[in-house]
Amino acid sequence: MSVSQQIHVIIPAGGIGSRMGLPYPKQLMPFRGTTLIQYTVSLFGGYSVTVAVPAEHRPAFETVLGEVTLVDGGETRFESVRNAFRKLNGQAGDLVVIHDAARPYFDPKTLDEACDRALEVGAVIYTHGAVDTMKWVGEDGQIQRTLDRRRVFHAQTPQIFRYELLEQAYDSLTCENMETLTDEAALFEAQGRPVFIFSASSGNRKLTHPEDLEMSQSAVPRIGHGYDVHKFCSDRPLYLGGIQIPHEFGLEGHSDADVALHALIDALLGAAGRGDIGQWFPDNDPQFKGVRSTRLLQRVWHSLTQDGFALFNADVTIQAQAPKLAGHIPAMRACIAETMNVSLSQINIKATTTEGLGFVGEKRGIAVDAVVLLQVEVG
Ligand code: MG
Repeated sequence: MSVSQQIHVIIPAGGIGSRMGLPYPKQLMPFRGTTLIQYTVSLFGGYSVTVAVPAEHRPAFETVLGEVTLVDGGETRFESVRNAFRKLNGQAGDLVVIHDAARPYFDPKTLDEACDRALEVGAVIYTHGAVDTMKWVGEDGQIQRTLDRRRVFHAQTPQIFRYELLEQAYDSLTCENMETLTDEAALFEAQGRPVFIFSASSGNRKLTHPEDLEMSQSAVPRIGHGYDVHKFCSDRPLYLGGIQIPHEFGLEGHSDADVALHALIDALLGAAGRGDIGQWFPDNDPQFKGVRSTRLLQRVWHSLTQDGFALFNADVTIQAQAPKLAGHIPAMRACIAETMNVSLSQINIKATTTEGLGFVGEKRGIAVDAVVLLQVEVG
């Protein structure tokens, strides 16, 4: 590679990955102490990276990716990559490296060799050879023949193209063959342009289904539950979910008495097997008198993330007869997501009354349940 040649990396992350069964795009799921998309982008440190993201989730991606260039994804992966390509400021002689957001096991040490090969031949894609016996099957389900598996390869990413060749291929694209184009190599093939394979390790697999994550990572899930109650008093402000809420009563307690954050902290500690909030922040310790519970949450979460814990999601249910909380939920979610440095989609908060029943119904206090799912790297 000469110094004038640039490598432009495009990461299509425009789909939401519904097969993973998550309530948010799979690219935002926790992975190795960060999110999957941040981790994959970090594999291309030093290169200019453009990520195509689902338009409706763009704010969440902006939050986690900061300065990385984002473009709106298209209906298909192919369109997402084309949208990103149109935003590149490239020239003949440059290379375009396209890599799936959900292939975090790609070994970046192989990239130099693959790029040199792409400069030489114009287009290369990472592949690995078929392991199972491969059958060609008719539409009726009847096997028609057995393929020679030495000649059959799984197409992966990165897929690497000389900039001007990819530009020509997009310019020559006709609408008829669009649906069959599941990757950029298929575009080249359809136009009779040569593409060569680059053999990668079989470890460069894609995370598509929940079991891929379990199989391919030395990470285990850990569930935790927290429960807390504080009673109302008349001489304190009401703090709930990290924010102050106008109300005639506050909650009694040694700290700011933010019962929602206390339940969440206990759920986190429970999932991590680290005891409970009372052991971490004793209520007779003067240093915690009146302390904001956001600071306690920050301290606990910092410690857990240092030890390799990452959040899948948290779900918090606040039981309060009064005040009305629905209008405050967005601000609580935002505060918790910011305090924990996780995406908004990982935090859910619900509020309910108890239909006038019990101490909550009698407006004597607020009770909160929280459940969390963490993952932790083992071994
Ligand atoms: Mg408490």
